[in-house]
Amino acid sequence: MVEVEEIRVDIEALLFGKENPELEFAVNKHRTFKGNRLDFKKHAFLIDLYKDPSSEIIVKKPTQVGLTEWIIYKMFKAAFNGHTSFTVLPKQKLRDAYVDTRINPLLTTCYFDMLKNGEKGNLSLKKLKHAYLHFVGSNSETEMVSHPADQLIIDELDFCDSRNLPLAENRLDHSNLKHRIYVSTPTLAGVGIDRRYVGSDKKKWHLKCEHCGKWQTLNFFGNVLMKDDDITGDWIPITGGVGIHCVKCGGIMNRFAVGEYIAEQKSDPSGYHIPALCHPTKSIKELYKKWIYSKDNEYEKQIFMNNDLGECYAAEGSNISQNSLDNCKANYNLSNTHINVSDRCVIGIDVGKYFHVIVGRVEGKKLRVVVVKKLLIDDDASIVEIFALIKKYGIKKGVIDARPENKLSNKISEKSGGIIWTCDYSTKENATEIFKEDKEKRRVVANRTWSIDDMVEGVRLQNILLPMEAHTIGGGYDEVQAKGKKGAKPCGEFYSQLQAPTRIAIRDSRGLIRYSWQEGSEQDHYFHALNYCNIAKLQIGTMTSISENPENFQPQLRDRDMMTGMEDFDSF
Ligand SMILES: [Zn+2]
Repeated sequence: MVEVEEIRVDIEALLFGKENPELEFAVNKHRTFKGNRLDFKKHAFLIDLYKDPSSEIIVKKPTQVGLTEWIIYKMFKAAFNGHTSFTVLPKQKLRDAYVDTRINPLLTTCYFDMLKNGEKGNLSLKKLKHAYLHFVGSNSETEMVSHPADQLIIDELDFCDSRNLPLAENRLDHSNLKHRIYVSTPTLAGVGIDRRYVGSDKKKWHLKCEHCGKWQTLNFFGNVLMKDDDITGDWIPITGGVGIHCVKCGGIMNRFAVGEYIAEQKSDPSGYHIPALCHPTKSIKELYKKWIYSKDNEYEKQIFMNNDLGECYAAEGSNISQNSLDNCKANYNLSNTHINVSDRCVIGIDVGKYFHVIVGRVEGKKLRVVVVKKLLIDDDASIVEIFALIKKYGIKKGVIDARPENKLSNKISEKSGGIIWTCDYSTKENATEIFKEDKEKRRVVANRTWSIDDMVEGVRLQNILLPMEAHTIGGGYDEVQAKGKKGAKPCGEFYSQLQAPTRIAIRDSRGLIRYSWQEGSEQDHYFHALNYCNIAKLQIGTMTSISENPENFQPQLRDRDMMTGMEDFDSF
């Protein structure tokens, strides 16, 4: 097995060959937290990013390729020019560690002279002479408001709380500069960083083969592995050993050579897909070993694709399929369900532009869906209708999304006389916090991943019963939403929204796999309405009281913990 990792090109010469003020600041002023000068020998693919003055930059990347250093450079460079940055990280805890380990050391070294009054400041705010640096966790709505900024930086976009990000965007409202930077390892196609990258000029790194002169992008499946078509159809190393082979002549290529970013289309946002095969510290052999380890487990494979290759990927079976919904159909229609006074009915309400409402009848372990409705939110008649449903079905318990209309949800809860509780999803990892009730405030806090897993498990075990016409509910057949999903047939909004979210795996800094349900770009209101309905069912105690005994609810799937955010910060 051979692997060639030689560096022949004099990158220093390339760096200083042309005058570039951006690069000059990066090389002469900036230092890493270890006090080192930036070294581009194994980071040739980052040079263009340091030179790029675009007002919107999008970076889709594998983990730990040196992007954190670039982001830090961008905020200090902006501050040097008098521009304030607002940097968003997935969680507050992560923000604290980030500022402590990556920002604070620089304030006593290379950027000490930029400090106002020589004070280092706290973990959320740094006061520099001509500008501020704000740092927030996307899970904190309150931190998102009230600070104006010129440059918005969203780090690990796909792991940020997407519901709070519009608040971060508003920080730029009063600036003349309005610079935006979005960086993330990807998760699902068409979601988060991938959606933004697709709308950018889509630059990919190209390298030239020194043997035959062919310029090419580098792909793990194509430059390292080939399909063993004759026998198994498996991906196997290209003949000649594990390394990067030219797609034309098969010769071994130098992955650290200076290449070129080539845009695939014309568009204003400047988008980069960082090449995974040029990873500064991960050898091709290591990547290959990881592939062998992960290729037979869908979730491990998804982590490999996202983190190691920087590509989008969804594991097989990671969302509710149309088949599993069909299997939940029982022999009844919404129009012919008869409710008795002794029946125990629950209601789940998702809040957005509409109230998406689902009423279910609890039948032992099963939940039979008896009402599916979509009501306009800014219409008093809708609230009247919700209360009419409560009366008609003798609803015992209900759960309504506490956000985004907190006041409205509280009002409905209050008027229902304690029947309807508001629900906040928590993303805390502590297992004892998977489900918490606050009787006084009529509020329930449910761990997002855990509660959704429970509802989805209900679908899988056919404990959720659907009417025969379920596939047609919600404006007839929706061809657009069904498109692209494996085995999906045209269906109504109800069905398509139940299929929209995808469960993705994340490996945290301790090496544990954690899961998160990502809504993607498709609407998923009925999915959450059904989840709220299921939470209401759990609340009326048809199962062991999970609020008292969370340990009883150990997952039948796998580790149901919620992700912590990104891996450790990548170092240059
Ligand atoms: Zn070649």
